[in-house]
Amino acid sequence: MATVHVVGAGLAGLSCALTLAESGVRVVVHEAAPAAGGRCRSFADAALGRMVDNGSHLMLSGNRAVIRHLERTGARDRMTALHPAAFPFLDRATGQCWTLRPGGMWFLDPSRRVPGGGALDHFAALRLLTAPAGATVADVLRPGSPLYARLWAPLAVAGLNGRPERVSARLLGAILRETLLRGEAACRPLFAPDGLSAALVTPALARLEALGAEVRFNARVEGPETADGRVTGFRSGGAAVAAGADDALVLAVPPRAAARLLPGLTVPPPGPAIVNAHFRLDRPAALPGGLPFLGLIGGTAEWLFARGDVLSVTVSAADALAERPAETVAAALWTDCAAVLGRPADAPVPPVRVVKERRATFDQSPTGDAARPPAATRLENLVLAGDWTATGLPATVEGALRSGEAAALVLLGRRTTSSARPGLFQGFTFPGRRHM
Ligand SMILES: Cc1cc2nc3c(=O)[nH]c(=O)nc-3n(C[C@H](O)[C@H](O)[C@H](O)COP(=O)(O)OP(=O)(O)OC[C@H]3O[C@@H](n4cnc5c(N)ncnc54)[C@H](O)[C@@H]3O)c2cc1C
Repeated sequence: MATVHVVGAGLAGLSCALTLAESGVRVVVHEAAPAAGGRCRSFADAALGRMVDNGSHLMLSGNRAVIRHLERTGARDRMTALHPAAFPFLDRATGQCWTLRPGGMWFLDPSRRVPGGGALDHFAALRLLTAPAGATVADVLRPGSPLYARLWAPLAVAGLNGRPERVSARLLGAILRETLLRGEAACRPLFAPDGLSAALVTPALARLEALGAEVRFNARVEGPETADGRVTGFRSGGAAVAAGADDALVLAVPPRAAARLLPGLTVPPPGPAIVNAHFRLDRPAALPGGLPFLGLIGGTAEWLFARGDVLSVTVSAADALAERPAETVAAALWTDCAAVLGRPADAPVPPVRVVKERRATFDQSPTGDAARPPAATRLENLVLAGDWTATGLPATVEGALRSGEAAALVLLGRRTTSSARPGLFQGFTFPGRRHM
């Protein structure tokens, strides 16, 4: 029986493995780390005595692949949606609070939109949908307007991990198309009360096991050997693995790792760091706006997430912050948190864990976006997956899950096409352009 070896147990690898295993394909997942989840994972932090996520992740109900993933793994109840959709903000300089409430003609109602932003200003964002491939967010929208400072720039930074002068207008347009433009029901923030792994990773591993798929940890894949335009073998955790005539490999690893494994592959350059700090408070955090999260305008902290007594703070496009020592980062972010929570400015910094994710995403500039390869490669039995492949979406959980499904469909399509021939994957013409 043919085997597909999926390299990487991040969300792209897991969704690829699930799609294949549900179609009856024999799957082996090889993960270099001791645990699955990649850039979207939870861990037990001994200093805090709590499970924390490597970084708070904001997903929305319009993320169809996320919903599909939760349903196929029986984990729909591991995430709760904030209903009706609402996005609370606080301006650090003025203390002004507002809550964006998308849905219907929300932008005509001053109490549901950004203060200082007129209805017509909101319409200007439609230009993102038809932006040329080379345009940045700042090229298309109007820097300097209150709406830009209070909505579009923070959205670009959080959604694309880069400054609006740098990141792709088209990619921000993709977020709008999939969420805001589909109405309130597509904009509800999703929260994982027990953490990212409990919602997205552990149930996926259980489902894979039930389907008979094998997942190997501490199994770094190295040096695929190739002959006649196909992979013939590789090493996993130091042991040789032969790839038979009908076997295939999916590289669901980050771009740098993919380029190492497949020399000559074009990959987008790395983007900036994302920094998170998790503070354990002396009581459950209550944020202004009364919701479990808050966008902060004009602070060092950008997004605050409250989960029980843990207050988590996210800063994107944070290369400069990531260079500073953890204590300095914690102190700077706590200053914002203390102000938001109404605590004295000199309140001592509570127990904290700072997580710096360098190269958190690929560089989501127009140039970086143009360098994203499709799933198919020049090698007959090797395909790519990952949030950095050409999904048309930003580097998000949604993009990662869809890339995994797309990679699986390339292989399954090949199997369907070749069903009348010997060899599971022979005779398939790849959809889309090959890249190398
Ligand atoms: C701090 C942070 C905050 C984020 N916030 C959000 C958010 O709010 N909303 C959102 O939607 N997205 C967010 N993202 C992005 C999201 O986490 C990623 O898009 C997604 O997790 C990428 O999944 P992936 O499977 O493509 O890659 P990864 O998660 O990087 O998985 C790749 C896997 O491959 C493994 N690997 C690497 N090399 C090898 C090898 N040679 N052999 C075997 N295994 C190997 C790695 O160990 C890893 O497990 C955030 C990311 C970070 C870092």
